[in-house]
Amino acid sequence: MRTFENVSGLRSFLRTIRSDDKSVGFIPTMGSLHEGHLALITRAKSECDRVIVSIFVNPLQFNDKEDLAAYPRDLKKDMLFLSAENVDALFHPGEEALYPPGSQTFVEVPELSSVLEGSSRPGHFRGVATIVAKLFNIVQPDSAYFGQKDFQQLLVIERMVRDLNLPVSIVSVPTVRDSSGLALSSRNARLSQEELLAATVLIRSLQTAEMFVKAGSTDPSEIKQVMNSIICAEPLAKLDYAELVNPSTLQPVTTLADGVTLAALSVIIGSTRLIDNKLIAPAGVPAVHMPLNKI
Ligand code: AMP
Repeated sequence: MRTFENVSGLRSFLRTIRSDDKSVGFIPTMGSLHEGHLALITRAKSECDRVIVSIFVNPLQFNDKEDLAAYPRDLKKDMLFLSAENVDALFHPGEEALYPPGSQTFVEVPELSSVLEGSSRPGHFRGVATIVAKLFNIVQPDSAYFGQKDFQQLLVIERMVRDLNLPVSIVSVPTVRDSSGLALSSRNARLSQEELLAATVLIRSLQTAEMFVKAGSTDPSEIKQVMNSIICAEPLAKLDYAELVNPSTLQPVTTLADGVTLAALSVIIGSTRLIDNKLIAPAGVPAVHMPLNKI
């Protein structure tokens, strides 16, 4: 595996790949890699000739300095993980390489960015859209892979790509979970055994919402109430939000009878904020993500 810390080195490597007419798949990450990231890498390897992974803990998407400082980092372990998976190149730039002093250009997708995670973490998606646009400009991949675990991020990126005519195809990959149903996340490393158990409230709440909808319930306030009560019954959990929204616009739904709804949750377990989501639909309706370019 080739490793690059600066843009020029990576660009000249990419030129040789392009001159061989090879397709490039790209997976942007913040490191502390796990099986969720692996699902993206595996998918990219099955679809592209060469696979590039980036690791960069992007300060611009953290509105809380303590959260940024506490974000888990283990570059050595990540490099072993990536070379064992035969990834072609790792890009792990320092902050100066991506944000030279005086940087003042940002990418914003305002409507999709202002709700859910955006209202709990102001500026987060401006940071995400800006870094992903920059990485796309550097890597110029044919396809880029994103997890449905961060559903709102996926929508923001799909919209940015469409609005800016970026020549990259966005591929979404279903959420990978552990045997308890907990969505894998680098942040899970911060949870104690007791907190890991408590964190199963997220998937239990989402599954119960789905059960209600499958059984014919169509009233968002009733289903939200059920989701809330499951979270509130867990002493180590504090609800940030539980919402039922349209999976394209992220605006609240008034009924669940009309098709696919996104149930989205943010819950604080101890001092760690976790997110999860599930697409839910009435019985007989497939609950799948419809990429923006197919709508
Ligand atoms: P992160 O390193 O957390 O920024 O995540 C990098 C990419 O991996 C993003 O596209 C995430 O949505 C994706 N990802 C993280 N966790 C999971 C998971 N459990 N299942 C699927 N994709 C994931």
